Amino acid sequence: MSEKNGGRSVADSRTQRTRHRPGDCEPPPQSRIVKPYFQGILYPMDPTRVTVRPRHRHPLRLLPLGGCGEIGMNLTLYGYADEWIAVDCGMMIRQDLPDTPLQVPNFETPRTLGITPRALFITHGHEDHIGAVAWLWPHWQCPIYATPLAAGLLRLKFAEHGLAPNAIRVIEPGEALSSGAFTLRYLPLPHSIPESCALMIAAGRQRVLHTGDWKLDPDPLVGPALDAEQFRALAPVDLVVGDSTNAPVPGHSASEGDVARALAETLAECRGRVVVSCFASNIARIVAVARAANQTGRRISLMGRSMERMVSVARGLGYLEELPPLVPIHDLGYLPPHEVVVIATGSQGEPRAALTRLAQGRHPHMELATGDSVIFSAKAIPGNERPIERLKTRLERLGVTLFDEFNRPALHATGHPAQEELKTLYSWIKPTHLLPVHGEARHQQVHRELAESLGINAPLSPLNGDMIRYDENGLHREARHPQPPCIVSQNAVVAHPGLDDASAHGRRGSLHLALPVTATDTGWARIGRLMLESTGASPLDEDSFSDWLDDQLDAIHADTLAELRQSLKPCLLGWLAEHMQHLPSIHLQIMAAEMPSFS
Ligand SMILES: [Zn+2]
Ligand SMILES: [Zn+2]
Repeated sequence: MSEKNGGRSVADSRTQRTRHRPGDCEPPPQSRIVKPYFQGILYPMDPTRVTVRPRHRHPLRLLPLGGCGEIGMNLTLYGYADEWIAVDCGMMIRQDLPDTPLQVPNFETPRTLGITPRALFITHGHEDHIGAVAWLWPHWQCPIYATPLAAGLLRLKFAEHGLAPNAIRVIEPGEALSSGAFTLRYLPLPHSIPESCALMIAAGRQRVLHTGDWKLDPDPLVGPALDAEQFRALAPVDLVVGDSTNAPVPGHSASEGDVARALAETLAECRGRVVVSCFASNIARIVAVARAANQTGRRISLMGRSMERMVSVARGLGYLEELPPLVPIHDLGYLPPHEVVVIATGSQGEPRAALTRLAQGRHPHMELATGDSVIFSAKAIPGNERPIERLKTRLERLGVTLFDEFNRPALHATGHPAQEELKTLYSWIKPTHLLPVHGEARHQQVHRELAESLGINAPLSPLNGDMIRYDENGLHREARHPQPPCIVSQNAVVAHPGLDDASAHGRRGSLHLALPVTATDTGWARIGRLMLESTGASPLDEDSFSDWLDDQLDAIHADTLAELRQSLKPCLLGWLAEHMQHLPSIHLQIMAAEMPSFS
């Protein structure tokens, strides 16, 4: 085990931690930071108090390596005076590549810039925030700080990779710590997994709120209610680095409490066996099913490896005390149908998931039939529309009654903030600047416009690989480092060869195309601007290229993004060869999004 982490102890003194909470009096004994400065750096200073300021002012630098211009694979590096920390290290599923492999952030840029973060801070346990840690951490060997649930999930990943878990440290929501020039506090916010935290990061004179994923939920079901005062006490922050996922959505997200009531009502209507399909990490949803099952006299069984894994970690942390003893799946046949509820993965129509096998009549321990019901307590992830449609058709053929986001919209709630929530949080923390992350280009753009309408400066939509400087003159892009995609293949991270690896030799420059599409009744259509990023490639007329691309999308029939990419590839290469002076090496990323609703 010790070879894997280089035999080096990560239990070093580079990162110092404190259990200080606002209002605490005693400075932590091991901290070298004096209390007034430490307190003032995370919360605004009392102007009457004399404090020691650092003599030299350095700019803060931000280097996002994932999550910008796309949803997934979040990783942001923060630098101050030659010291760096990393926030999150997630992966993304490349729906448009054959066999939908995982993509992880490219490690090359920090390596060539000589950046090794002194610590990695995880905001929460979703795969787009922790999924790449086991792949990238061996290069860094730094301490990893995570709240208990995310730490538990990381330990499982480390075990699978044969890595020793010593670097993983638990930090409780509300705690603060220091790491070199950086001071951080974990501030809990509701989300669709427990213990999601925003990070208040201070370095030099800069105070940044990195929001992570969040929503304002008055009834989150699991975890503490939102502490608005804690956020008001931060005002004014200099910079908010914020979740853009639902920035185009007007209004306010629904509450988990409302979803729980809708689930209880729906379950009470069902007569035969019931399968509830939801995301495994949504512990609040599992609690909601447990409550509804208790009320309706049903016993619970779990289907799906990720569901079993998540429930076992969450249970160990005391999150699922309402969950009654589970019925082993092979005993389901002994129970009368009206006493059964199964919580299963597979809401996205994944071919190997339990729900798909049930729909195909291939599950070894349970058969669905007329009178049974399936409740989809999850929304369709864009790009999965057609596999989900096929799954539902199969279930209906078996005579199963379906409840989903279309006939019962109250059965799911998003975990990300809509416009009214963004406005509320920003009115609390009063940021001077915004850097929109965690979103595709159009999410980032709408987020910027919303911020500007509130008087917040939002001059940039960052892309992965942008070196951004933040100082008294605001936010500036200093450099752009191209990020060729890195794919997990046969248990290793490899550079993805691009669109036509066979003949890529002798190409001039590189061209990265990010194509956002949405499912239509008949096929796919482009939604928002095509993103073209070229390095050293000959120029391209973007307008005529976009027009041509739209015609192609219109004509192609494809069920999945991978099929769409496969069909698009030859004509795309042909068009580019005809219209560019020299053919560059080409990377195409097709991303599915849902049509924004402005109802
Ligand atoms: Zn999340
Ligand atoms: Zn996320």
